[in-house]
Formats: sequence, C-alpha cells, structure tokens
Amino acid sequence: METRAICTDCGFVSSDRVLKDSCPACGAPRSVFEPFEDRMSPARRKWLNQRAHQIMVAFPQVFVTVLFLSLICIALAPPRTAVLVHVKYTAKTLSLLVPFAVLGALITGYIDGRVRFTRLSGRFIRIKRNAGILLFACSCALASMIAVFGFKGPTAWITILVSLFALALSIVLGKLGGRLVCSEICEKQ
Ligand SMILES: [Zn+2]
Repeated sequence: METRAICTDCGFVSSDRVLKDSCPACGAPRSVFEPFEDRMSPARRKWLNQRAHQIMVAFPQVFVTVLFLSLICIALAPPRTAVLVHVKYTAKTLSLLVPFAVLGALITGYIDGRVRFTRLSGRFIRIKRNAGILLFACSCALASMIAVFGFKGPTAWITILVSLFALALSIVLGKLGGRLVCSEICEKQ
C-alpha cells in the first residue's frame, strides 16, 4: 500500500512517492514531514475530497457581496444613469438566487459535518449552523423586500442594511469554516 506523509507545518498530505525536497504547499523542508495515517474510512475521505461544501459556500459569498455592492450603486447613482437598469436587474436576480445558494451550502455543510465529526454539538459547529440559518432567513427577507418594494422608497436603506448584515454573516461563516477544516481533533475514526 502506498504510504503517505503529512507536513507538520501546514498539514499538507502527500504520497511519499511523489514528495520532493520541500512541501509543495508551504515550502517547508522534507524533514518536517511525518508519516500520515488516515483514520478516516475511504468512503468518508472520498466524499470530503469532493469539497462539495467549500465549493457551494463560494456561491452565496459571491452573490451576497455583489448584491450589497449593487444596492449601494442603486442608492447612490443619479436616477437617470443608463447602466442602472442592468444593475437593478442583476440585484433582483441575485436576491432570488441567494436563498437557494445558502440552502445548498447549509445542506452540503450538514452532510460534511456528519461525515467529518463524531458529533455536531461542538461550539464552532453550533455557531456555524445558527449563523447559516440566520443567513438563510436574511436572504429570504432580502428577496421578499426587493420583490415587494423594489429599490426606492423608505425601505431602500433597510434593504442595504440587511444585505450588509448578510455579507458580514457570510464572512464570519467563511472564517469559522476555515477553522473547522483545519482542526482534525474531533475527526471521525
Ligand atoms: Zn507544508
């Protein structure tokens, strides 16, 4: 069976056979590598290697960021700016897509959690789950507000504030996700 080694500096795992003089991820010398024994079953490892959750979370992150910037543009641009009609169209489309994207991230995140951890009651996981559900609620509220009230009127700034909150949530979720992926402490045997 092929033996593998892990970089004790950055956690990069490589097959012994292809490992050269330094870590291809962080550049640390080969001497920092230690033999790596995967405690995870091949089926579990195969699912995690798909990176489904990491790929899915990119969508709400990008959508929420572009939506926030679009709303700011709509609020600040002079009313007759020609490009505004396209920005409004983009914002409206994104506001409808965000809830589905968040839902996809929540579902793959739940599956990832079940595969990766023995229990889902840890502090980080609880915070991440609650923030994810809150982001879903925010995105549904945003889609409804934009569909009902559009971009003008007294609710415009409330829409921008909710979208800023959604953006902040997605950043917090991304940071927490990074910490969870790096921790191997409670990985399933
Ligand atoms: Zn490394």
